[in-house]
Amino acid sequence: MVTLALSKGRILEESIPLLERAGIVPEEDLAKTRRLIVGTNIPDVQLVVIRAADVPTYVRYGAADLGIAGKDVLLEDGGDGLYELADLDIARCRLMVAEPDHGGAGAAGRTWTRLRVATKYVKITERHFAAQGIQADIIHLYGSMELAPLVGLADRIVDLVSSGRTLAANGLKAVEHVLDVSAWLVANRAAMKTKYEALRPVIAALAGERKI
Ligand code: ADP
Ligand code: MG
Repeated sequence: MVTLALSKGRILEESIPLLERAGIVPEEDLAKTRRLIVGTNIPDVQLVVIRAADVPTYVRYGAADLGIAGKDVLLEDGGDGLYELADLDIARCRLMVAEPDHGGAGAAGRTWTRLRVATKYVKITERHFAAQGIQADIIHLYGSMELAPLVGLADRIVDLVSSGRTLAANGLKAVEHVLDVSAWLVANRAAMKTKYEALRPVIAALAGERKI
């Protein structure tokens, strides 16, 4: 059995047409089903649909042989035990530093001196500011980062941007580029040795080389 882990959310939306182009047809509509394990038209190929940030973990432990995960998630994870096989050129966006367009909550109510940055990407953010010689205090949030500067929780945020509409709607503007993001096909290192013959056609199909 070959198990491919798919990231829920934005990546799943763009993985559905990618699977179709690859000739892999899920037994249920992935956009609608509540099932977490879904078979396909290819015998011995199944899909699991999980939180984006969990994909590296499933693949590292071999619970999934292959996975589709954002570069943001892979870099934050560290990628131990994973091969990054191919840039799938889907779910493209940018990881950016953003700040209030007009000064935000203002320095008046500020009770901290060091730069405070709210983000889901603690490691990437630490590294980004350290590379500029800035020791930032990182505030770890799980979502709605845009709120943090508006209510005086942080000076800046590091978050994914595609159209910039969410930033603009919250009076924020992107000020620095951190990383170009797209979804990558990743594989469990051990499986690439022990199950290579089974994985090869699935990898080739997903990477767009040929239909399965
Ligand atoms: P979650 O809320 O679990 O992080 P998302 O769907 O917001 O789920 O994000 C999952 C992945 O999709 C991200 O890690 C990123 O790689 C990609 N992604 C997120 N937002 C966008 C976007 N606006 N455009 C393209 N890709 C995105
Ligand atoms: Mg999101």
